[in-house]
Amino acid sequence: MRTTCPYCGVGCGVLATPTAARSATIKGDPDHPANFGRLCSKGTHLGETIGLDGRLLAPMIGAKAVGWDEALDRVASRFAATIAEHGPDSVAFYASGQMLTEDYYVANKLMKGFIGTGNIDTNSRLCMSSAVAAHIRAFGEDVVPCSYDALDAADLIILVGSNTAWCHPVIWQRIEAARKARGTKLVVIDPRRTETADCADLHLAIAPDTDVALFNGLLLEMRGTWRLDGRFLAERVEVPEGFWKDLPRVDVARTCGIAAEDVQAFYDLFAEHPRTVTLFSQGVNQSTSGTDKGNAIINLHLATGRIGKLGAGPFSITGQPNAMGGREVGGLASTLAAHMGFSDIERGRAQRFWRSPTICPGPGLKAVDMFEAMARGKIKAVWIMATNPAVSMPDARMARVALANCPFVVVSDCIANTDTAVYAQVKLPALAWGEKHGTVTNSERRISRQRGFMAAPGEARADWWAIAEVAKRMGFDGFDYAGPADIFREFAAQTGFENDGARLLDLSAHAAIDDAGYDGMAPFQWGGASPFEHRPFTTANGKARMIAVRHTPRDDATRALPLRLNTGRYRDQWHTMTRTGLSPTLSQHRREPLVEVHPETAQSYGLVEGGLARVATEHGSSVYRVAVTPAQRRRDLFVPIHWTDRTSSGGRTGLLPSTLRDPHSGQPGFKNTPATITPYKPEWSGFLITRERP
Ligand code: SF4
Repeated sequence: MRTTCPYCGVGCGVLATPTAARSATIKGDPDHPANFGRLCSKGTHLGETIGLDGRLLAPMIGAKAVGWDEALDRVASRFAATIAEHGPDSVAFYASGQMLTEDYYVANKLMKGFIGTGNIDTNSRLCMSSAVAAHIRAFGEDVVPCSYDALDAADLIILVGSNTAWCHPVIWQRIEAARKARGTKLVVIDPRRTETADCADLHLAIAPDTDVALFNGLLLEMRGTWRLDGRFLAERVEVPEGFWKDLPRVDVARTCGIAAEDVQAFYDLFAEHPRTVTLFSQGVNQSTSGTDKGNAIINLHLATGRIGKLGAGPFSITGQPNAMGGREVGGLASTLAAHMGFSDIERGRAQRFWRSPTICPGPGLKAVDMFEAMARGKIKAVWIMATNPAVSMPDARMARVALANCPFVVVSDCIANTDTAVYAQVKLPALAWGEKHGTVTNSERRISRQRGFMAAPGEARADWWAIAEVAKRMGFDGFDYAGPADIFREFAAQTGFENDGARLLDLSAHAAIDDAGYDGMAPFQWGGASPFEHRPFTTANGKARMIAVRHTPRDDATRALPLRLNTGRYRDQWHTMTRTGLSPTLSQHRREPLVEVHPETAQSYGLVEGGLARVATEHGSSVYRVAVTPAQRRRDLFVPIHWTDRTSSGGRTGLLPSTLRDPHSGQPGFKNTPATITPYKPEWSGFLITRERP
């Protein structure tokens, strides 16, 4: 069976061959354009994760297993009663980049078109919403202007805030192949010397959150050496008045904390290689200045004409398998549907298309705001689908207080006992990978089918079905779907509805696809490989916009919290390990959570290699095994995100990050939280950080 990997935004094609009821052999799909047969360790070992260990197999009300009718009636009646008493903005939906596009579409339609609230947001807010905001500011629409084949044709690849070798390994394999074949130069910009940085021609270990200074400096350097693309600027780009005069002149080396020769080496490499792809990820996005960082990168590509041609462009790569599909249907609180905003015209258009009784008046609460509103008692009913915010939200303790305070919590998941499910009054059993059917969109705008090859276990049902059943029970028409193909056709039609070329996202050519065509759908890319090569940007005047951005240092360190805490992924684990934690092979790579510290920091704080240490921030603390490494900057700490209360007695990183967030995107600054560290001496000298199966 041809399907796609459920882990990251590379979106690799997978060939799954069932070998028994709950087992399958897994291979890379040689015909899928995202991976041409390659897989990383996580994709390769998918077959070890498809058993029924820990599965939620029946709807639950409290601790009691019930039938679907009773559970759905309960959800519909409680949502309806809450709305009747407190209004539509008293309810919320918290979605996930793990959901299929069809699930996302139905959830967004219910919330924005029928309940009439913008309060649907997603864990993708925590992942790449700064890139979305940067795209909309620069291009007028959330369009990634690059494709993977740009990496094959580039002469210079710049990786910013991305440990690609671990987090997007198949992209990394492609970069390595290009370097071998063509001698492509590689610059890595990352405070840590990661496995990716180890392979670079140049690694700039900049101080956290100084990217804007670095890229503004490069822009000035290119202007000062007459290397801007005057024609492209004149014809395709709108430069705000005073942009160049106001661009701050800063001492880049000093601001970024790196050697002046390294800054110049980077600028020279950029000047010498016009075919440049700048690929950026969570180190850019998960920042209190993430949107400005994205625009600083895009400004540089616009001013030098390195966009809209093969081998050149700014390229945001997403963390989750379907963050892009969620963005397309409107799964973020800050967009309406099908890349539309909230103008009266767009709201009217969406309402006409859905034939809905109402339409939300404007944007809803973004993820952190949603949980803060819940903690204050403003959100009185929430439906959480395929995500674990009790661990993954910044200041997870706040999220737990919010969930405990919320009078009605529904959790849809395939796992029975997640940290979030503890707070649920109703749990709905979802289909897992290998059982569900639908589509996902990867980081290069390629839509692929995810196909089930195993029977649904127990009472598990598709998420779209559960949402549609609740909608019908609330008295809403327009939710009679026979299957995911029906939903895909409707979504495709919405993208073309009254579009007239105003938005690049237009799938209306697929709106008449029949069920057989949907079943056999081959991966396809909307917008083409280089979408702005032959067509205007999606702004009112057709020009892209340079955005004036300046470096704004984060200055919330205190005497008690003088260090900087960075968070990220390990190569073989995924999110909160509800799936990868089931694989014995994947668990071999890093068996416990480490805090990585520079040798001088270790010495200053009395830490020893292999000892234990407690990392503390304003929000909480947790214990880790110490790894002393010069790969860390002095005074920076790095910890992994995967371990949770349910899986470990230490390494509970979710408790630590601050809720400070980017003012444009609402994305939290996970990678730069003031922190401190102290040696930890357990009373029981045999203390081990253990991991149990979820
Ligand atoms: Fe799956 Fe991402 Fe690995 Fe591809 S690179 S196999 S999509 S985890």
